[in-house]
Amino acid sequence: MRLANELYRDSAVTAPSSSPTSAISSVSPGAPDTFAGIPGGVPGTAGSRSIFPDSFAAFPTEKPDNPGLAGGYPLATTTAHAPIHADQVEALGPPGSGNALDSGAHQQDSNEVYPFGEPRCNGSFRAREAYADTVESSPLFYFLREGDSRTGLRGQEPQAGPPLSGLEVDTIRKDFPVLHQRVHGHPLIWFDNAATTQKPRSVIDATSRFYSRDNSNIHRAAHALAARATELYEGGREKVRRFIGAADTKEIVFVRGTTEAINLVAQTYGRTHIGRGDEILLTVMEHHANIVPWQFLAEQTGAVLRVAPINDAGELVLEQFVPLLGPRTKLVAVTHVSNALGTINPVETIIGMAHAAGVPVLVDGAQSAPHFPVNVQAMDCDFFVFSGHKIFGPTGIGVLYGKAALLEGMPPYQGGGNMISDVTFEKTTYQGIPQKFEAGTPDIAGVVGLGAAIDYLSSLGMPAIAAYEHELLEYATQALSSIRGLRPIGTAAVKASVLSFVMDGLSNELVGRHLDRYGIAVRSGHHCAQPAVRRFGLEGTVRPSLAFYNTRDEIDVLVRALHDLRRR
Ligand code: PMP
Repeated sequence: MRLANELYRDSAVTAPSSSPTSAISSVSPGAPDTFAGIPGGVPGTAGSRSIFPDSFAAFPTEKPDNPGLAGGYPLATTTAHAPIHADQVEALGPPGSGNALDSGAHQQDSNEVYPFGEPRCNGSFRAREAYADTVESSPLFYFLREGDSRTGLRGQEPQAGPPLSGLEVDTIRKDFPVLHQRVHGHPLIWFDNAATTQKPRSVIDATSRFYSRDNSNIHRAAHALAARATELYEGGREKVRRFIGAADTKEIVFVRGTTEAINLVAQTYGRTHIGRGDEILLTVMEHHANIVPWQFLAEQTGAVLRVAPINDAGELVLEQFVPLLGPRTKLVAVTHVSNALGTINPVETIIGMAHAAGVPVLVDGAQSAPHFPVNVQAMDCDFFVFSGHKIFGPTGIGVLYGKAALLEGMPPYQGGGNMISDVTFEKTTYQGIPQKFEAGTPDIAGVVGLGAAIDYLSSLGMPAIAAYEHELLEYATQALSSIRGLRPIGTAAVKASVLSFVMDGLSNELVGRHLDRYGIAVRSGHHCAQPAVRRFGLEGTVRPSLAFYNTRDEIDVLVRALHDLRRR
């Protein structure tokens, strides 16, 4: 498995520059060091490669003086800590019984901790079925049943883990209040990071401080709090600009999240530049947020969606992507990292090929921005979108980056206050970019929180985060391979964060609920990427997904819990 930063360097070398034909030949046999899935590329599937300091040269340097960072970055040495295997695992009793999964937690209230009744059963088929039934009928999980929209969960208390190389994770974990709680009597293990990430204290405090001290609407009033709030909001824009390496703050548009950003591009750029018979090129591994807005556009305009296939490892098949890039292609929209499979796409190569054919590219960065450095100028994407809540910031705030020339040529998305320069009943003129796209009062506190999240990530250093998570992913991948009947889904040579799998004879939901009883939060289901999951003949997977505050010890607990489930 290769590290994202390496990939970035390699792809910059191989990105084609002139025609589609030269684009293809630049990734043909003999190309220096390309991706699996590219004809003649170096598959590089076995094990991790060392990480060279120059891998990071292309990225804006981060402050190396962070207290949570041991000895600066980058570094990724192999650790001596071996994953546990089936034969090392003792028979496990129920949570709280002092078993191998139970790191000292004791239940106070057995009815609350065992909502399904006594969890241990003797492994017979009937017992297994009964276990599944009790889990599936639990009222705790009403929200998994269609039509039931009540909300509300619970939890409380602390835990920490040992550092891998690069980051002082014990120290870092202290910054995340939510991690310090017990769920069903066990320390919470948050492995649902691809769905949303937890927030450091600095983000929570910045948001709260804004409402306690600085709250005002922005841009329009001549008073002190308006000035402060405007400064904080526009300061947040500058932080985002730096975080993704954009040339100018006017290229940064605040939206609600990735979903809204893609809808905005579809309904403004798309409605202007894409017409009947034109083609929008996607991949099988897109999140629904990067499918449905294009379907809306296709219905509205008569445009057509083209979909590039993926192979059995979950990698984009570039040989088949290239011919889909035809004379009618008006836009490529591709995810940087698949939320269901973890695949890191060779976006620089894709962008190079698309640009050679005169086609702009939107990169869905929802799952890349949290895990490794992103530089939109080096990547040369035309649009880049991501969500605040996936980079340890608040929900309800996200970013659309667009090249200034493209944004300037796009009509507004919504009309209202803030985005106008002059209004009469006869004619309205608009602000320039980015305000043209920010109608109404924005999520000012959200931007403040997002800015604090970016500060936090910058203090750790995105290269160090990438290196740490890469080691953790490799450790987890190996550890999960010890579980009988576990089939990994998404085994790309270049991956980030995600460990999708299915288990023979066990529903994904059952596995998810079993893990929950040990305080382990994973996602089970289709992950809003049904075409990707169906490509593997499945309707869903179990998906643990990692962040820099996760530890090997947490992976060990996950693996023991899965061994335990298998034994039932
Ligand atoms: N794209 C990808 C790859 C994602 O993982 C997600 C969130 N799971 C989205 C888009 C949508 O993000 P949001 O719900 O924050 O708009």
